[in-house]
Amino acid sequence: MSSLRVLLTADQIHERIKEMAAEIDRDHPQGPVYLIGILKGACIFLADLARAMKTPARLEFVGISSYGRGKSSSGEVKLTKDLDVSVEGFDVIVVEDIVDSGITLSYLVQVFQQRRPKSLRVATLLDKPDRRQRPVRVDYAGFHIPDEFVVGYGLDYAEDYRNLPDVCVLSE
Ligand code: 5GP
Repeated sequence: MSSLRVLLTADQIHERIKEMAAEIDRDHPQGPVYLIGILKGACIFLADLARAMKTPARLEFVGISSYGRGKSSSGEVKLTKDLDVSVEGFDVIVVEDIVDSGITLSYLVQVFQQRRPKSLRVATLLDKPDRRQRPVRVDYAGFHIPDEFVVGYGLDYAEDYRNLPDVCVLSE
């Protein structure tokens, strides 16, 4: 039997997102900013972040191969859906649900740097700094969390739990 324990409530998340959006607005007084969401986990965070921002934003998504049905990374990252547009010369923010080993993000930063954006920053709702294997610079981090497997607010386990409003620790 698996059990869920609330780690971050929907209210906590929304309050923090307002603060993150204000930071992003401050750093990007001119729009538009491209928010690039990593499917599927970041879609709910991106939707709330974009609406909390005042700076005009354009929304893009990329797909990557990820954990599949397990809880640990394969260490391999592959782009399964690329951007639909060129972001050359634009301010870009990569929007992630969670940074764990940093393998996904370091790969994506490398990919997007090659697209010659004016600036490239990273926003993540959750960060597990204890698990880092690759150094990555996170410009906007919502919450630092301990080394536990979490679901909800976009994050899944085998495609379940994404629509929970809170972030919960899943244990079996
Ligand atoms: P990294 O490449 O940094 O190890 O992993 C990033 C990706 O791993 C995230 O985008 C997410 O899909 C997945 N991931 C890492 N930790 C968790 C977790 O605690 N819960 C869930 N649901 N996914 C996670």
